[in-house]
Amino acid sequence: MNISEIKKLDEEYIASTYGRLPLVPAYGKNATLTDVCGRKYIDFTAGIGVNSLGIAPEEWIAAVTEQLGKIQHISNYYYSAPTAVLAEKIVKSSQMKKVIFSNSGGEANEAAIKTARKYSFDKYGKGRSKIITLLDSFHGRTVTTLSATGQDVFHNYFFPFTEGFDYVKAGDIEALEKLCDGTVCAVMCEVIQGEGGVNVIDAGFLSEVKKLCDEKDILLIFDEVQTGIARTGTLYAYQNVGVKPDIFTLAKGLGAGLPIGCCVLGEKCADVLHPGDHGSTFGGNPVICAGACVVMDTVTKPEFLNSVKEKGNYIISEISLMNAPVVSEIRGRGLMIGVKVKASHKEIAKKCLAEGLMILTAGKDVLRFLPPLTITYGEIDKGLEILRKVLSEIPG
Ligand SMILES: *Cc1c(COP(=O)(O)O)cnc(C)c1O
Repeated sequence: MNISEIKKLDEEYIASTYGRLPLVPAYGKNATLTDVCGRKYIDFTAGIGVNSLGIAPEEWIAAVTEQLGKIQHISNYYYSAPTAVLAEKIVKSSQMKKVIFSNSGGEANEAAIKTARKYSFDKYGKGRSKIITLLDSFHGRTVTTLSATGQDVFHNYFFPFTEGFDYVKAGDIEALEKLCDGTVCAVMCEVIQGEGGVNVIDAGFLSEVKKLCDEKDILLIFDEVQTGIARTGTLYAYQNVGVKPDIFTLAKGLGAGLPIGCCVLGEKCADVLHPGDHGSTFGGNPVICAGACVVMDTVTKPEFLNSVKEKGNYIISEISLMNAPVVSEIRGRGLMIGVKVKASHKEIAKKCLAEGLMILTAGKDVLRFLPPLTITYGEIDKGLEILRKVLSEIPG
């Protein structure tokens, strides 16, 4: 099939919930993709931070196909070795207690929300179910995680939304203190807001939030769906700010391209949910977990984590050296980078794609880079060369 045939089928039969860009990738290696016409692209998106080990990583393919040849799925009514081994890796690397597997970030957050509400219900009874999140956050697309998302644009059409959420501005500890009365069971936030614009949340604020939560027995939930799995140069982003949550969630980079979500529970709430309280048909699938074990073994190596930090610092310094008038700020950590621009971020992303570079956008005016963690310096330089050309052609 050629591009126009594929485009025609897609537009005729798939509901248009995405405005797709004109690219049909056919195959690739690491951060270099080839489209159906044989044209090459540098990938600074990793499928929205999902392909953590790049396209077609060999060890991961071997682990996934080996498990695929044994048992592809067995349901959560039986034990599964790759699932249990992955759980151990996540728990030991975070010093948490237990995990709940699911299939996506939104679902992992649902599990976190349910756990927090039941923790509070078991201990304090009804009426203590509210969850405070941050403005400009993003927590998912289910009716409940849309409620948790602190952006008005997401609170349309699908009424009634799940009640019991309220929002504060990042950094405003007084406002949070005011909201944290006897009706609140949890505070939930990203360590660096991804979709909201690569907003790095102040570490001092996060430790004040932690202190407040501990005093009032309110659970602190970190949504690490985007920041987790070495994306920011530490295995989990909270490890860089020195604030340990009671619950955190993972998804995007964990499966290296196959769907998995994970809600990680600490001491306080490890045994809150009992058989029948929660479940998932596909959650913890053995094939995906076998692949995720390779991801964990790879990204937890100190030299790997260092390389993520170094590549991130290199990209940030190269972009600032471009001195492009259209750029007003560069921010982020590790390989989660935001470049604030004074022109349309969507138009810049389109121009980059036309030149052979895939990038993401976030918030109202931010270019977002989430390349595979394994991207090479050669690939980075090729991508930056295209970015330099595109940015230099836009007046400030
Ligand atoms: C992507 C994302 C989600 C939603 O994950 P899905 O897998 O699309 O459900 C939730 N929280 C954060 C921080 C995300 O970046």
